Amino acid sequence: MKFAMIGAGAMGLRYGILLQEAGNDVTFIDTWQPHIDKIREQGGVYVMRDHEDRHLVDIKLETPESYDDDPDMFIIFAKQMQLADYLERCAHFIKPKHYAFTCMNGMGHIEKIQKYFDDDKIIGGTALIATVLPGPGEVDFMGKRGAGKLNMCPLNEKPDQMCYDLFNELDKAQMNPTLTDDFMGTLMTKVIFNSVINTICTMFEIQMGEFGNFSGFDSMARQLIDEAYDICARADIHLVSSRDEEMKALEVNTRVDMPLHYPSMYQDMINDRPTEVDYINGYIAELGRKYHYEAATHLFVTQAVHLAEYHRQNE
Ligand code: NAD
Repeated sequence: MKFAMIGAGAMGLRYGILLQEAGNDVTFIDTWQPHIDKIREQGGVYVMRDHEDRHLVDIKLETPESYDDDPDMFIIFAKQMQLADYLERCAHFIKPKHYAFTCMNGMGHIEKIQKYFDDDKIIGGTALIATVLPGPGEVDFMGKRGAGKLNMCPLNEKPDQMCYDLFNELDKAQMNPTLTDDFMGTLMTKVIFNSVINTICTMFEIQMGEFGNFSGFDSMARQLIDEAYDICARADIHLVSSRDEEMKALEVNTRVDMPLHYPSMYQDMINDRPTEVDYINGYIAELGRKYHYEAATHLFVTQAVHLAEYHRQNE
């Protein structure tokens, strides 16, 4: 298949390079000038796996202004706050027949993507896969080859041939896709997962294992989960995991799978970039408001992360 990655940051590079290695035609589109300059200067991207085996991978790289092709599918990986600008700059090459797939964290991106892509051609998803961009022109794939997994679901919940083709390419690229049948439930289950780990680890600048093994982990996680699940019940969103399954997934992820990892939200904070907290805990709190439920913990945590950002930027 022919792919164009809108956003060649940590996740865009991971998905794109794995799809390229699986035999697909992939072009990367990015806007961060130091990153673009470095990739051009060194003739590709330096790729590592768990900080090791640093090697150069040749990629096709364009800016939104220079890209002029007709892919089968766009894969979108920007940070939530960048997406509107990204799509505006890309609008000139997006045609009504084009498909978009994204596994961005948080919520708010789908409405923005709907302004440019037909509802029947949007595939959303969630990625349980950790990737770090240590600096311009470099990416570190955390976990062994074949590690991590993703869920995907078409917005209209009716998979078509293009959706199955995408699934097969992701499978060949060893990204362990699962096709689910509830769009909102799939996305919100991951938003809630992130609302616990990403936020707390970012605010205290700790690794996931430090939080997962903390004696207060269960009660802190449970409070955030309970609030979010109560709100989703009011909003009639059918989450794909029960509360206990979500707790178990958090325990395994923090204690067993990625104890030494810092979540992507933390990577933003230490690089003095705004975090996605308004699209994660903030989104849950906003949804609560709509259904007359005061999500006091999510509201508090949203502001606590903003305080941590503010403190960092004014140190
Ligand atoms: P990223 O920040 O690495 O890249 C996104 C865009 O920001 C790219 O265009 C990149 O070039 C640009 N960028 C990177 N550093 C920059 C800097 N210092 N200044 C200016 N621009 C910069 O983001 P990502 O990790 O690829 O995340 C994309 C989406 O996927 C987000 O919604 C994220 O939450 C989600 N996600 C990330 C991970 C992960 O492990 N990285 C895992 C699951 C989901």
